[in-house]
Amino acid sequence: MTRHLQSPAGMPRTSAVSRRAVHGLVLAIASLSWPPIQAAAQQEDDDPHREARERLVRDHIASPPFGAQYAVGDEEVLRAMRTVPRHRFVPPDLLSQAYEDRPLPIGHGQTISQPYIVAFMTELLGVGPEDRVLEIGTGSGYQAAVLAEIVAQVFTIEIVEPLARSARARLEELGYANVVVREGDGYYGWQEHAPYDAIIVTAAASHVPPPLLEQLRAGARMVIPVGPPFQVQTLMLIEKRADGRIEQRSLMPVRFVPFTREE
Ligand code: SAH
Repeated sequence: MTRHLQSPAGMPRTSAVSRRAVHGLVLAIASLSWPPIQAAAQQEDDDPHREARERLVRDHIASPPFGAQYAVGDEEVLRAMRTVPRHRFVPPDLLSQAYEDRPLPIGHGQTISQPYIVAFMTELLGVGPEDRVLEIGTGSGYQAAVLAEIVAQVFTIEIVEPLARSARARLEELGYANVVVREGDGYYGWQEHAPYDAIIVTAAASHVPPPLLEQLRAGARMVIPVGPPFQVQTLMLIEKRADGRIEQRSLMPVRFVPFTREE
């Protein structure tokens, strides 16, 4: 059942969102002087999966078969997708499918998201090297690692304790020192580190949790799938304007695993 979750649920209905501004020079400087990025990139230099990853990015993310208007074009996002070793985030028996563009089960009824969706959501956040991002739904830690390649700090919350534990260990092993994993119900966000420059929710919620809106910095974005569990949901882009006004846009139909709540 969960095998089909966290992927676009069909042809996108709305027009493509505008590209965010590129953080050109600042980004180049930051990537030269940022040890976690370098560590992760160098580690993968003799990686036999590099070519598969390149192909995935080229054929499914930079030019998705379901519509050129949904191509992910942000160079930093594409670089992150080419760098993060997705095969380290999937169960060993699914290794051969690690670079297919689809979600895969990771145990506990959960899934690692489809690579295209990870890239698309990351691009929507419009984040750069100075930013601090909150993720709800750590799962395997893959989305957190992709973000960690781009931003200064990632805070991520996972409700299933064994998943939080294994994601924390995996991210540490891969050298992502700028990710902090917490076990708990992400509905309430993580007040201690708020406000965030972006928030990403990777489980389908019935509504946008108000505490997350509160913890979003003015001028920042949140990406969240909203809709009924185990059905098609809508990927929403939410922007908190400088004056505090909330604007939201429906982007595409998706299928995510449900946002659950602690008893
Ligand atoms: N981002 C993940 C995919 C996550 S699947 C990755 O890259 O692998 C969605 C995850 O959200 C699941 O692991 C699920 O346990 C978690 N989740 C669901 N409800 C949650 C909640 N209220 N708080 C935190 N995590 C939650």
